[in-house]
Amino acid sequence: MTRATTSEFAFELRVCRWAERCWRPAADSAVIVARQLGTRDRRWDTLVLECDPDGLRERARFGPERLDSNLLDVIGHAPAEWGYYREALPDPGYPWRYVRETIHEADDRGILETRRAGNRIEIRRKWPYPDWLERLVVVENKPDLDASAARRLGAQLEFDVALALADEVWVATRRTGERVEPALFEDLPVEAGILAFDPETLSASVVWHPRTLAVDRPGTQILERPSGTARDASAARFAYVDPDVKARTRLEIAERAYERGWRSFVETMRPDCRGFELRAVADRPTRDGECEPRGSQLLPYCRALERQPRAAECSGSCPAFEPEPPAWRMRGWPLEGGPGTRCRALLEARKRRRRP
Ligand code: SF4
Repeated sequence: MTRATTSEFAFELRVCRWAERCWRPAADSAVIVARQLGTRDRRWDTLVLECDPDGLRERARFGPERLDSNLLDVIGHAPAEWGYYREALPDPGYPWRYVRETIHEADDRGILETRRAGNRIEIRRKWPYPDWLERLVVVENKPDLDASAARRLGAQLEFDVALALADEVWVATRRTGERVEPALFEDLPVEAGILAFDPETLSASVVWHPRTLAVDRPGTQILERPSGTARDASAARFAYVDPDVKARTRLEIAERAYERGWRSFVETMRPDCRGFELRAVADRPTRDGECEPRGSQLLPYCRALERQPRAAECSGSCPAFEPEPPAWRMRGWPLEGGPGTRCRALLEARKRRRRP
């Protein structure tokens, strides 16, 4: 059997699968899992969105693509009855011509009604935009959490805790099987949860429970902090972040997660390389019986490197990259392209099937 993980990247994909199968939301919520998303200042490895099931169904009417910041401005405020867009929408704080472009885009996507009244554009909403995101949980994956990795991670987690953009912050680390998991001895913020994860059996145990962060109160953004050395007498710099700004940022992240999911890794890797392969890793039931995932997961494998490639190295700049021979596209896969195209299609289909 293929070992489930030989790299940090594969560990991350296993955590995503575990979260998709086994995450227990705080309420009776639907779960969406995404990876490598965040803000300009911070990106998380794994994101778990706990969603209101009815709200999520209503969100689905707006299509599988994300609503970006501009679309949220328009769709979120579009009136139930026809109205001139400049009167119906709040002042966007940027030129109205961009709003007009967004209105045309929303019209093209079929998520907003528009009509002309003379030379005025009137708009009317098709459906109210639902309040679908309940909780946002972020996870940092550190399979080998030694002291120096913990130091770096500790600073990032302090940033997360102070800002409180996510409801919970976790660290997932490889389960060691020791009586006390070593991660507990590392200097991490007490607000962050610790998950001991076994990527082979796809099982996890909570070593330290996280605290729920105050997402609806002002957050503190750490802009700069002293290095801690004797020569550095500088003061830390902070900025306060309004709860409304945080709510909006959470929604924008959620929209991107809704569009991408976590299997989108194939979009940034090179399945069209002749060395690229998807290998199935069978799930094995957990021993503690808490969650019993069944089935198998497709993980990327590189025949040239004879191991799982990291996401960053499997790219057009990889020195071992070799395009699929044209003959692969001619024989056996006459219509749908070569194996690379099939890999993409397969993961895309799994992504769609899992979207609640
Ligand atoms: S790591 Fe390089 S050689 Fe391997 S599949 Fe990716 S691009 Fe091809």
